[in-house]
Amino acid sequence: MLSSKELQRYSRQIMLPQVGEDGQEKLASARIMIVGLGGLGSPAALYLAAAGIGELHLVDGDHVDLSNLQRQVLYKTNHQSKSKALVAAQQLAAANPTIRVYPHSQMANESWLREHVKQVDLVLDCTDNLDIRHTINRVCYAARRPVVMASVQGFSGQLISFDFSAGKGPCYACLFPPQQQVEVQNCSTAGVIGPALGVVGSMQALEAIKYLMGMSVSSLSTLHLIETETFALQTLQLRAHDSCAVCSA
Ligand SMILES: [Zn+2]
Repeated sequence: MLSSKELQRYSRQIMLPQVGEDGQEKLASARIMIVGLGGLGSPAALYLAAAGIGELHLVDGDHVDLSNLQRQVLYKTNHQSKSKALVAAQQLAAANPTIRVYPHSQMANESWLREHVKQVDLVLDCTDNLDIRHTINRVCYAARRPVVMASVQGFSGQLISFDFSAGKGPCYACLFPPQQQVEVQNCSTAGVIGPALGVVGSMQALEAIKYLMGMSVSSLSTLHLIETETFALQTLQLRAHDSCAVCSA
């Protein structure tokens, strides 16, 4: 049952036919892990906290740097050199003290993820590193947890989600087989415009909310290429790859 304060706090989304009190209760009982608290993780975490996701696990081993503030909107100038996970948890608790927020000040690795992913209902991959993205893909597949992945370079974003609850592909390795990886640049080497991260990180939060409420999720097994310079959007339906090392084994 939602309290009168909760009914008031979430009234503008509860009045939506897609949400209602039932949907709000689903969000309140949901547990989400956000891996990476940078340009994507910042808006995603802020919106998920504000929307009343019951439990948020925030994973990042980095500290706030002056060069992060152009796009990582969770952090203020006085947070420089502090732990991103700890600052993010404080900011989200201030935004919504009715939810539970758990900071994990460490870089996600396979063994840590294997232990913790099974304790949540959904994972947001907000990292900018291909190795860890493949690790998240493998762990979520093994744990049968849905994952919403995104990345942004320059003005261009990518978004795709996988629902592994049935123990079936496709998966991220079907899309980009690890052995075919070329050297890919990330934000620190390629440059990125802040609001594009705001757009795509907010889309990740949206997809998570839709999934948790049982709505249809547009990016499920469908790569979305979002060009924020022109607002062009391309979609590419993904099929499971017969020789995928992760999901066809
Ligand atoms: Zn696969």
